[in-house]
Amino acid sequence: MKFTLLKMLGLLSLVIILLAGGFYFYGKFKKSADMSSTKTVSQTPAAQPSPFATSSWAPTNNLDFPVSQFKQRITKKPFGKYITPQNSPVQPERFSGYHTGADVEYDDMTSDVRVYAISDGKIVLSRTADGYGGVFMLEIQLNGTAHTILYGHIRPSSLPKVGQMYKKDEQIAVLGTGNSAETDGERRHLHFAVMGDNRLDIKGYVQTQSALSGWLDPLSLYN
Ligand SMILES: [Zn+2]
Repeated sequence: MKFTLLKMLGLLSLVIILLAGGFYFYGKFKKSADMSSTKTVSQTPAAQPSPFATSSWAPTNNLDFPVSQFKQRITKKPFGKYITPQNSPVQPERFSGYHTGADVEYDDMTSDVRVYAISDGKIVLSRTADGYGGVFMLEIQLNGTAHTILYGHIRPSSLPKVGQMYKKDEQIAVLGTGNSAETDGERRHLHFAVMGDNRLDIKGYVQTQSALSGWLDPLSLYN
């Protein structure tokens, strides 16, 4: 009797040890299986190229328009158009060459037309110049690179000060009155140009297509 009881206790403890060992190894196996499956899942999206990494639309889409009805009113001289006194939609025409900006037309407006900062930035040029009347440039950051944004045909008395900072959407100035000294005799419109770097180049036209490479199509920022 005593012998059988000891034998039974011995068998029972053997079973317990085997079961415990079994659970221990099962747990270990399950954990490593979970870890490897987690690893696989987390690696999959990282291995695929992000649609945002190579695209430029996401950050540039945050820009404000420089004037109201910006796109609708680019009706005469878009960016890059080759203008001659003969083919120009503006008559009489005194300029010729590839247009470095986009002209936004407001000749039908009798009230002041406000221009706004398209992004946070700093005024890096502000003066009067032949062909423009008032002109200023706002330096902004686009995709980590400095860009200078030119606003031409501005009322000189509304020009900002060089060094002044503006927040996106903030009003900076107003357009000059058409056919007056404020616009150097031009119709009321905004000549709006974007340089892909921080050069202070105010040329409205260039004579070769390759010379146009420093400028970007302003509309391309809003796609
Ligand atoms: Zn222009």
